[in-house]
Amino acid sequence: MSWLLPVQATPTKMSQRFVPVIDARVRPVAMPQAGQVLPAQGQLSDRLQRPLRDLRVSLTDRCNFRCTYCMPKEVFDREYRFMPHSDLLSFEEITRLARVFVAHGVEKIRLTGGEPLLRKDLPSLVRMLAELTTPDGRSIDLALTTNASLLRRHAAALAEAGLKRVTASLDALDDDVFRRMNDVGFPVAAVLDGIDAAVQAGLPVKINMVVQRGVNEHQILPMARFCAERGHILRMIEYMDVGTTNGWRLDEVVPAAEMVAIINREIPLTPLEPNYSGEVARRWRYRDGAGEIGVVASVTQAFCRDCTRARLSIEGRLFLCLFASQGFDLRSLLRGGATDEQLSTAIAGIWGARADRYSELRGQSGREGPAKIEMSYIGG
Ligand code: SAM
Ligand code: SF4
Ligand code: SF4
Repeated sequence: MSWLLPVQATPTKMSQRFVPVIDARVRPVAMPQAGQVLPAQGQLSDRLQRPLRDLRVSLTDRCNFRCTYCMPKEVFDREYRFMPHSDLLSFEEITRLARVFVAHGVEKIRLTGGEPLLRKDLPSLVRMLAELTTPDGRSIDLALTTNASLLRRHAAALAEAGLKRVTASLDALDDDVFRRMNDVGFPVAAVLDGIDAAVQAGLPVKINMVVQRGVNEHQILPMARFCAERGHILRMIEYMDVGTTNGWRLDEVVPAAEMVAIINREIPLTPLEPNYSGEVARRWRYRDGAGEIGVVASVTQAFCRDCTRARLSIEGRLFLCLFASQGFDLRSLLRGGATDEQLSTAIAGIWGARADRYSELRGQSGREGPAKIEMSYIGG
């Protein structure tokens, strides 16, 4: 596609402290010309015949936690330079882009971060996005991933604004383990209270638990019991090698099969079919009818062939993979006066050229490329 410009070559030299999460990680996108404009038809397909169905929108790179596997304190400290507010996409810009993505087939939008509840007046954005409809007139599935620390304060307003559901991250029920993992001493009781607030506001809640060997695998059973009692779906996630700052090691990954076995020994499980093609979690139900769990096995059982996700960064770059090092600069188009048709054409060209499948190729020699983006920047 002629409007996809070549990769910008050289990353800037970084000190140890400044992690190359953003700069030099941008791919410019040329403004499509009048003759190139293609209308959205709701069915894009990439080079591996994968449709575009999900959009994850990162709203901030800031967070009030310092989870050791995501934002290690030694790097994300007082001197760390977070993105200035003027660089962030405005709610209007996000909504305009989201509308174009929905016209291209996106059915599900997930708001994430950093901690998305740190973004001021989030219900206004939710209200704007909740009005979007798919080309055949359905409302979109609008979800939020949060650490739930501020959910008590915001849940009712978010539900009222049109949020459909919440995924709350909770890695342990044991207060000591939880405080150690968030590394700011945040008490688990306040997160549980945030989750209760979401339930009281009528929002279905799923729980994300990242499992790290030697850190919280002993919390799997208590978490499973807690979620079954409360009616939450527990999704256990393999610790991933996202970014460059968390010092990830393969021996810290608890394989999803092991997580399932730990639960199955005490509470027998039966596998479930996926809800839809492209579903990331493998699902299991409790044989006694107490609910279901899911595992996200991105390290041990890669699912790239079904990956229908695009990711929009805080400052409007489109990333085609969680492990990408570069994103396509849609903000320049937005702020450079692009029409909706031009935005739509650019997105179609970018998705059409996509061939990313990092997890399937993980571990192959010669794959050490430029630094990958951080989880707290792109939002998982
Ligand atoms: N702050 C919010 C939260 O924690 O839910 C949203 C952003 S956070 C980056 C999104 C999800 O990514 C969380 O569920 C978090 O546990 C998960 N995550 C972060 N780093 C991870 C890693 N290295 N491997 C697996 N999951 C990770
Ligand atoms: Fe913050 Fe979420 Fe990362 Fe934890 S996982 S540091 S809560 S962005
Ligand atoms: Fe999708 Fe990239 Fe994850 Fe594969 S590695 S499933 S392409 S985000």
